[in-house]
Order: sequence, then structure tokens, then C-alpha cells
Amino acid sequence: MPEATKMMVWIDQDLCTGDGICEEIAPDVFVGRDDGLWVVKEEADHFGSSIVFDGVEGDGHGPDGSRGLARIPDSLMDDAIEAAEECPGECIMIEPYQADLVHDGAA
Ligand code: SF4
Repeated sequence: MPEATKMMVWIDQDLCTGDGICEEIAPDVFVGRDDGLWVVKEEADHFGSSIVFDGVEGDGHGPDGSRGLARIPDSLMDDAIEAAEECPGECIMIEPYQADLVHDGAA
């Protein structure tokens, strides 16, 4: 069963400073990309399959930026909010859950 979620998150990579604070606070929600910018992700532990919203083509990946919204597990909401508050780029965007924006992880 996927974990309950009320909110989703995306990162504006244009503003990301690449310091990695978000991943230190919430490693199941944020991950560094090869180019030194951070992206959001969904972990199989919470949702049954893993998706990294890094803009790479292929299974297990999704679009980056505002088109790549990851569900935030309710159990990690406090961590995600703390990350957004601590983010020096102010580029972590948290929005209400929308079922039609959930990505299935297929290419
Ligand atoms: S905390 Fe913000 S600026 Fe820092 S890596 Fe994460 S998204 Fe980028």
C-alpha cells in the first residue's frame, strides 16, 4: 500500500545552490543529481516503487523542475517543510497533493 500523502514537492533547479542541505534533512525526498543540482524523488519504501525526478529518460525517472512533482509521505512532511525552510535558494516548492500529477515512473 502506498503511504498516505497530502502534499507534493518540486525543486526549481534554476535557483538551487547545490549545497545539499535538503538531502541531509530528508534523504528519502531529495537527492543530488550528477550536475550538482538537487532534485526530488519518491522512495519504494513509501510508495512501492522508486522514481527520481531528474529529467532523465527511462524507467524510474521523471521530469525535473515544475513538471516533476514527487509525493511527500505524510510521515516525512515535517522534514520536507524543514528542508524548504532551510533551503538557501528558497527553491523547494511544496504544493497540495493532486492525483492527476502522480508520475507512474514509466519512461
Ligand atoms: S537545500 Fe535548496 S539550494 Fe540546497 S541543494 Fe537543496 S534545493 Fe538546492
